[in-house]
Amino acid sequence: MPYRIIQINPSATSNSRASVLVIYTGGTFGMVYEPQAGQLVPFDFERVVDRLPELNRLDFAISLLTLNEIIDSSNMKPAVWVELAQIIQDHYSSYDSFVILHGTDTMSFTASALSFMLEGLSKPVILTGAQLPIGVARSDARENFITALEIAAATEADRPLVPEVCVYFNSLLLRGNRSTKRESVQFNAFTSENYPHLANAGVSIDYNRPFIRPYQPNQSLKIHKTLDPNVTILKLFPGITQAVVESIVNIPSLRGIVLETFGAGNAPTDAWFLDVLKGTVDRGVLIFNVSQCEGGRVTQGQYQTSKHLLQIGVVSGADITTEAAITKLMVLLGREPGYGPEAVLRLRTLLAQPISGEMSE
Ligand code: ASP
Repeated sequence: MPYRIIQINPSATSNSRASVLVIYTGGTFGMVYEPQAGQLVPFDFERVVDRLPELNRLDFAISLLTLNEIIDSSNMKPAVWVELAQIIQDHYSSYDSFVILHGTDTMSFTASALSFMLEGLSKPVILTGAQLPIGVARSDARENFITALEIAAATEADRPLVPEVCVYFNSLLLRGNRSTKRESVQFNAFTSENYPHLANAGVSIDYNRPFIRPYQPNQSLKIHKTLDPNVTILKLFPGITQAVVESIVNIPSLRGIVLETFGAGNAPTDAWFLDVLKGTVDRGVLIFNVSQCEGGRVTQGQYQTSKHLLQIGVVSGADITTEAAITKLMVLLGREPGYGPEAVLRLRTLLAQPISGEMSE
Protein backbone atom coordinates (compact mmCIF):
# COMPACT_ATOMS: atom_id res chain seq x y z
CA MET A 1 0.00 0.00 0.00
CA PRO A 2 1.44 3.45 -0.85
CA TYR A 3 2.21 5.66 2.11
CA ARG A 4 0.33 8.81 2.91
CA ILE A 5 2.52 11.77 3.80
CA ILE A 6 1.03 14.79 5.55
CA GLN A 7 2.65 17.98 6.69
CA ILE A 8 2.02 18.31 10.39
CA ASN A 9 3.01 21.97 10.92
CA PRO A 10 1.65 23.79 7.84
CA SER A 11 2.30 27.16 9.51
CA ALA A 12 6.05 26.58 8.99
CA THR A 13 5.98 26.38 5.21
CA SER A 14 6.33 30.06 4.36
CA ASN A 15 9.82 30.61 5.78
CA SER A 16 10.94 27.08 6.57
CA ARG A 17 14.71 26.59 6.67
CA ALA A 18 14.63 22.80 6.32
CA SER A 19 12.32 19.86 5.72
CA VAL A 20 12.24 16.81 7.96
CA LEU A 21 10.39 13.59 7.24
CA VAL A 22 9.19 11.85 10.41
CA ILE A 23 8.61 8.12 10.05
CA TYR A 24 6.36 6.76 12.78
CA THR A 25 6.78 3.06 13.53
CA GLY A 26 5.01 2.68 16.89
CA GLY A 27 6.23 1.94 20.43
CA THR A 28 5.24 3.48 23.75
CA PHE A 29 5.68 7.00 22.34
CA GLY A 30 2.32 7.17 20.56
CA MET A 31 0.11 5.76 23.31
CA VAL A 32 -2.65 7.54 25.23
CA TYR A 33 -4.76 6.41 28.14
CA GLU A 34 -8.23 5.27 27.09
CA PRO A 35 -10.42 5.67 30.19
CA GLN A 36 -13.24 3.45 28.89
CA ALA A 37 -10.91 0.56 28.17
CA GLY A 38 -8.76 1.41 31.22
CA GLN A 39 -5.58 0.88 29.22
CA LEU A 40 -2.99 2.49 26.97
CA VAL A 41 -3.89 2.43 23.28
CA PRO A 42 -2.19 3.91 20.19
CA PHE A 43 -3.67 7.26 19.16
CA ASP A 44 -4.10 8.66 15.65
CA PHE A 45 -0.57 9.92 15.14
CA GLU A 46 -1.56 12.22 12.31
CA ARG A 47 -3.12 14.37 15.05
CA VAL A 48 0.16 14.70 16.94
CA VAL A 49 -0.03 18.49 16.79
CA ASP A 50 -3.07 18.36 19.09
CA ARG A 51 -0.77 16.80 21.69
CA LEU A 52 2.33 18.84 20.84
CA PRO A 53 1.14 22.27 19.64
CA GLU A 54 4.73 23.55 19.97
CA LEU A 55 5.52 21.72 16.72
CA ASN A 56 3.85 24.70 15.07
CA ARG A 57 6.52 26.99 16.49
CA LEU A 58 9.44 25.23 14.78
CA ASP A 59 10.75 27.11 11.76
CA PHE A 60 11.17 24.09 9.53
CA ALA A 61 8.68 21.89 7.74
CA ILE A 62 7.78 18.56 9.34
CA SER A 63 6.08 15.86 7.30
CA LEU A 64 4.80 12.59 8.70
CA LEU A 65 4.70 9.12 7.22
CA THR A 66 3.14 6.37 9.32
CA LEU A 67 4.05 2.76 8.58
CA ASN A 68 1.09 0.69 7.46
CA GLU A 69 1.56 -1.54 10.48
CA ILE A 70 2.34 0.15 13.80
CA ILE A 71 4.37 -2.13 16.04
CA ASP A 72 5.76 -2.53 19.50
CA SER A 73 9.46 -2.65 18.69
CA SER A 74 9.77 -6.12 20.23
CA ASN A 75 8.17 -7.20 16.96
CA MET A 76 10.85 -5.49 14.87
CA LYS A 77 12.18 -7.59 11.98
CA PRO A 78 14.70 -7.20 9.13
CA ALA A 79 11.75 -6.78 6.73
CA VAL A 80 10.81 -3.55 8.52
CA TRP A 81 14.43 -2.33 8.39
CA VAL A 82 14.29 -2.88 4.62
CA GLU A 83 11.01 -0.94 4.51
CA LEU A 84 12.60 1.95 6.46
CA ALA A 85 15.71 1.99 4.26
CA GLN A 86 13.53 1.99 1.15
CA ILE A 87 11.40 4.88 2.45
CA ILE A 88 14.57 6.88 3.16
CA GLN A 89 15.92 6.17 -0.31
CA ASP A 90 12.61 6.98 -2.02
CA HIS A 91 12.39 10.36 -0.24
CA TYR A 92 16.09 11.12 -0.01
CA SER A 93 16.12 13.98 -2.45
CA SER A 94 12.88 15.54 -1.16
CA TYR A 95 13.86 15.99 2.51
CA ASP A 96 16.87 17.34 4.35
CA SER A 97 16.71 14.78 7.13
CA PHE A 98 14.73 11.98 8.76
CA VAL A 99 13.45 11.30 12.28
CA ILE A 100 12.28 7.77 13.08
CA LEU A 101 9.90 7.37 16.02
CA HIS A 102 10.54 3.90 17.37
CA GLY A 103 9.93 1.79 20.48
CA THR A 104 12.90 1.80 22.78
CA ASP A 105 13.26 -1.98 23.19
CA THR A 106 15.01 -2.62 19.87
CA MET A 107 15.89 0.92 18.83
CA SER A 108 19.64 0.22 19.00
CA PHE A 109 19.26 -2.81 16.72
CA THR A 110 17.35 -0.73 14.15
CA ALA A 111 19.85 2.14 14.37
CA SER A 112 22.74 -0.30 13.92
CA ALA A 113 21.09 -2.12 11.01
CA LEU A 114 20.29 1.14 9.20
CA SER A 115 23.84 2.40 9.67
CA PHE A 116 25.07 -0.61 7.66
CA MET A 117 22.20 -0.63 5.15
CA LEU A 118 22.39 3.08 4.20
CA GLU A 119 25.78 3.21 2.50
CA GLY A 120 26.89 6.70 1.50
CA LEU A 121 24.40 8.44 3.82
CA SER A 122 25.05 12.17 4.06
CA LYS A 123 21.85 13.31 5.80
CA PRO A 124 20.77 12.94 9.44
CA VAL A 125 18.64 9.93 10.39
CA ILE A 126 17.71 10.38 14.07
CA LEU A 127 15.84 7.69 16.00
CA THR A 128 13.95 8.56 19.14
CA GLY A 129 11.06 7.35 21.28
CA ALA A 130 9.85 7.63 24.85
CA GLN A 131 9.78 5.73 28.11
CA LEU A 132 6.36 7.18 28.98
CA PRO A 133 3.52 7.55 26.45
CA ILE A 134 2.83 10.96 24.99
CA GLY A 135 -0.59 10.89 26.65
CA VAL A 136 0.92 10.82 30.15
CA ALA A 137 1.57 14.22 31.75
CA ARG A 138 5.18 13.46 32.77
CA SER A 139 6.05 11.88 29.44
CA ASP A 140 9.55 12.30 28.02
CA ALA A 141 8.06 12.11 24.49
CA ARG A 142 7.83 15.87 24.04
CA GLU A 143 11.46 16.70 24.80
CA ASN A 144 12.83 13.69 22.93
CA PHE A 145 10.80 14.39 19.79
CA ILE A 146 11.32 18.14 19.63
CA THR A 147 15.06 17.99 20.28
CA ALA A 148 15.47 15.12 17.79
CA LEU A 149 13.73 17.33 15.20
CA GLU A 150 15.97 20.30 16.07
CA ILE A 151 19.07 18.13 15.68
CA ALA A 152 17.82 16.67 12.40
CA ALA A 153 17.28 20.17 11.02
CA ALA A 154 20.55 21.63 12.36
CA THR A 155 23.02 22.89 9.77
CA GLU A 156 26.32 24.71 9.73
CA ALA A 157 27.57 26.43 6.58
CA ASP A 158 24.60 24.89 4.74
CA ARG A 159 25.63 21.37 5.70
CA PRO A 160 23.83 19.00 8.06
CA LEU A 161 25.53 18.95 11.44
CA VAL A 162 24.98 15.25 12.04
CA PRO A 163 24.99 13.35 8.73
CA GLU A 164 24.70 9.87 10.22
CA VAL A 165 22.31 7.43 11.92
CA CYS A 166 21.89 8.43 15.59
CA VAL A 167 19.78 7.76 18.65
CA TYR A 168 18.60 10.83 20.55
CA PHE A 169 17.26 10.19 24.04
CA ASN A 170 17.11 12.02 27.37
CA SER A 171 19.43 14.89 26.38
CA LEU A 172 22.04 12.71 24.67
CA LEU A 173 22.76 12.23 21.01
CA LEU A 174 24.52 8.89 20.45
CA ARG A 175 25.96 7.27 17.35
CA GLY A 176 23.25 4.72 16.54
CA ASN A 177 25.53 1.72 16.12
CA ARG A 178 27.30 2.52 19.40
CA SER A 179 24.09 2.72 21.43
CA THR A 180 22.58 0.14 23.77
CA LYS A 181 19.35 0.17 25.75
CA ARG A 182 20.45 -0.14 29.35
CA GLU A 183 17.44 1.00 31.36
CA SER A 184 13.73 0.17 31.24
CA VAL A 185 12.45 2.35 34.08
CA GLN A 186 14.47 5.57 34.29
CA PHE A 187 14.42 8.12 31.46
CA ASN A 188 18.12 7.61 30.65
CA ALA A 189 17.37 4.53 28.56
CA PHE A 190 20.42 4.53 26.28
CA THR A 191 24.15 4.48 26.74
CA SER A 192 27.20 4.48 24.51
CA GLU A 193 30.02 3.11 26.61
CA ASN A 194 32.70 2.97 23.96
CA TYR A 195 32.12 6.13 21.94
CA PRO A 196 31.63 9.72 23.11
CA HIS A 197 28.20 11.36 22.96
CA LEU A 198 27.73 13.26 19.70
CA ALA A 199 25.79 16.03 21.44
CA ASN A 200 24.41 17.04 24.83
CA ALA A 201 21.16 18.96 24.87
CA GLY A 202 20.81 21.37 27.77
CA VAL A 203 19.97 25.05 27.50
CA SER A 204 21.77 24.84 24.17
CA ILE A 205 22.64 21.79 22.10
CA ASP A 206 26.40 21.27 22.34
CA TYR A 207 27.76 19.22 19.47
CA ASN A 208 30.88 17.12 19.97
CA ARG A 209 32.13 17.90 16.47
CA PRO A 210 35.36 15.86 16.35
CA PHE A 211 33.39 12.66 16.93
CA ILE A 212 30.60 13.25 14.40
CA ARG A 213 31.07 11.59 11.03
CA PRO A 214 32.25 14.27 8.60
CA TYR A 215 29.87 15.37 5.87
CA GLN A 216 30.77 13.81 2.54
CA PRO A 217 29.03 15.81 -0.17
CA ASN A 218 29.95 13.66 -3.13
CA GLN A 219 28.48 10.43 -1.85
CA SER A 220 25.32 8.99 -3.26
CA LEU A 221 23.04 6.82 -1.17
CA LYS A 222 23.10 3.11 -1.89
CA ILE A 223 20.94 0.81 0.21
CA HIS A 224 21.64 -2.82 1.06
CA LYS A 225 18.33 -4.61 1.12
CA THR A 226 19.33 -8.23 1.54
CA LEU A 227 19.90 -9.27 5.13
CA ASP A 228 20.88 -12.85 5.88
CA PRO A 229 18.86 -14.19 8.83
CA ASN A 230 21.12 -17.23 9.29
CA VAL A 231 22.93 -15.78 12.30
CA THR A 232 22.74 -16.22 16.04
CA ILE A 233 24.11 -15.03 19.38
CA LEU A 234 25.83 -17.51 21.69
CA LYS A 235 26.28 -16.10 25.19
CA LEU A 236 28.84 -17.98 27.26
CA PHE A 237 28.38 -18.71 30.96
CA PRO A 238 30.40 -20.82 33.39
CA GLY A 239 29.15 -24.38 33.02
CA ILE A 240 27.85 -24.13 29.45
CA THR A 241 27.66 -27.69 28.13
CA GLN A 242 28.96 -29.27 24.95
CA ALA A 243 25.40 -30.26 24.04
CA VAL A 244 24.26 -26.62 24.13
CA VAL A 245 27.20 -25.31 22.12
CA GLU A 246 26.94 -28.10 19.55
CA SER A 247 23.21 -27.66 19.11
CA ILE A 248 23.79 -24.00 18.25
CA VAL A 249 26.80 -24.29 15.95
CA ASN A 250 25.16 -27.15 14.07
CA ILE A 251 22.01 -25.24 13.13
CA PRO A 252 21.53 -25.99 9.42
CA SER A 253 22.36 -23.02 7.12
CA LEU A 254 24.00 -21.07 9.95
CA ARG A 255 26.55 -18.59 8.54
CA GLY A 256 27.45 -16.31 11.43
CA ILE A 257 27.67 -16.38 15.24
CA VAL A 258 28.17 -13.51 17.65
CA LEU A 259 30.08 -15.18 20.48
CA GLU A 260 29.48 -13.22 23.69
CA THR A 261 32.62 -13.85 25.69
CA PHE A 262 33.86 -12.79 29.12
CA GLY A 263 35.86 -9.63 29.88
CA ALA A 264 38.45 -8.83 27.23
CA GLY A 265 37.19 -11.59 24.91
CA ASN A 266 37.98 -14.66 27.00
CA ALA A 267 36.39 -18.10 26.76
CA PRO A 268 36.87 -21.55 28.32
CA THR A 269 39.92 -23.49 27.19
CA ASP A 270 38.32 -26.95 27.41
CA ALA A 271 39.45 -29.09 24.49
CA TRP A 272 35.87 -29.97 23.48
CA PHE A 273 34.92 -26.27 23.32
CA LEU A 274 37.88 -25.27 21.17
CA ASP A 275 37.40 -28.30 18.91
CA VAL A 276 33.73 -27.49 18.31
CA LEU A 277 34.56 -23.85 17.52
CA LYS A 278 37.44 -24.82 15.23
CA GLY A 279 35.22 -27.22 13.29
CA THR A 280 32.63 -24.46 12.93
CA VAL A 281 35.14 -21.90 11.63
CA ASP A 282 36.64 -24.50 9.27
CA ARG A 283 33.15 -25.04 7.81
CA GLY A 284 33.11 -21.36 6.80
CA VAL A 285 30.86 -20.08 9.61
CA LEU A 286 31.96 -16.65 10.85
CA ILE A 287 32.44 -16.36 14.61
CA PHE A 288 32.56 -12.78 15.86
CA ASN A 289 33.93 -12.27 19.37
CA VAL A 290 32.03 -9.63 21.35
CA SER A 291 32.47 -9.00 25.07
CA GLN A 292 29.64 -9.34 27.56
CA CYS A 293 31.02 -6.17 29.21
CA GLU A 294 29.47 -2.94 27.95
CA GLY A 295 32.72 -1.02 28.27
CA GLY A 296 36.23 -1.93 27.16
CA ARG A 297 37.20 -4.12 24.24
CA VAL A 298 38.06 -7.59 23.07
CA THR A 299 41.81 -8.13 22.81
CA GLN A 300 42.30 -11.65 21.52
CA GLY A 301 45.66 -12.96 22.69
CA GLN A 302 45.93 -10.82 25.82
CA TYR A 303 45.06 -13.85 27.98
CA GLN A 304 45.70 -17.48 27.27
CA THR A 305 41.89 -17.89 27.37
CA SER A 306 41.51 -15.80 24.25
CA LYS A 307 44.72 -16.73 22.44
CA HIS A 308 43.15 -19.99 21.30
CA LEU A 309 40.19 -18.15 19.79
CA LEU A 310 42.63 -16.09 17.75
CA GLN A 311 44.44 -19.22 16.58
CA ILE A 312 41.20 -20.94 15.56
CA GLY A 313 40.15 -18.00 13.40
CA VAL A 314 37.52 -16.29 15.56
CA VAL A 315 37.22 -12.63 14.45
CA SER A 316 37.71 -9.98 17.16
CA GLY A 317 34.81 -7.55 17.54
CA ALA A 318 37.01 -5.05 19.41
CA ASP A 319 34.62 -2.65 21.21
CA ILE A 320 31.48 -3.33 19.13
CA THR A 321 28.06 -3.75 20.78
CA THR A 322 26.10 -6.98 20.38
CA GLU A 323 23.39 -5.02 18.53
CA ALA A 324 25.89 -3.72 15.99
CA ALA A 325 27.65 -7.09 15.72
CA ILE A 326 24.56 -9.13 14.87
CA THR A 327 23.21 -6.59 12.39
CA LYS A 328 26.64 -6.17 10.78
CA LEU A 329 26.75 -9.93 10.26
CA MET A 330 23.26 -9.93 8.71
CA VAL A 331 24.08 -7.10 6.32
CA LEU A 332 27.55 -8.32 5.32
CA LEU A 333 26.34 -11.90 4.78
CA GLY A 334 23.45 -10.52 2.72
CA ARG A 335 25.92 -8.57 0.59
CA GLU A 336 28.05 -11.68 0.02
CA PRO A 337 25.94 -14.63 -1.10
CA GLY A 338 29.03 -16.75 -1.91
CA TYR A 339 30.02 -19.52 0.49
CA GLY A 340 33.53 -20.24 -0.90
CA PRO A 341 36.81 -19.60 0.93
CA GLU A 342 37.39 -16.28 -0.89
CA ALA A 343 33.96 -15.02 0.15
CA VAL A 344 34.64 -16.03 3.75
CA LEU A 345 38.01 -14.26 3.64
CA ARG A 346 36.41 -11.06 2.30
CA LEU A 347 33.76 -11.24 5.02
CA ARG A 348 36.32 -11.81 7.77
CA THR A 349 38.27 -8.75 6.62
CA LEU A 350 35.16 -6.53 6.61
CA LEU A 351 33.97 -7.88 9.96
CA ALA A 352 37.30 -7.07 11.61
CA GLN A 353 37.32 -3.41 10.51
CA PRO A 354 34.93 -0.52 11.08
CA ILE A 355 32.63 -0.02 8.09
CA SER A 356 30.27 2.55 9.61
CA GLY A 357 31.97 3.85 12.73
CA GLU A 358 30.66 0.89 14.77
CA MET A 359 34.00 -0.12 16.30
CA SER A 360 37.38 1.36 17.05
CA GLU A 361 40.45 0.13 15.16
N1 ASP B 1 7.81 -2.10 24.25
C1 ASP B 1 7.98 -0.75 23.77
C2 ASP B 1 8.65 -0.81 22.42
O1 ASP B 1 9.82 -1.00 22.34
C3 ASP B 1 8.77 0.04 24.73
C4 ASP B 1 9.02 1.47 24.34
O2 ASP B 1 8.62 1.96 23.32
O3 ASP B 1 9.69 2.14 25.11
O4 ASP B 1 7.98 -0.68 21.42
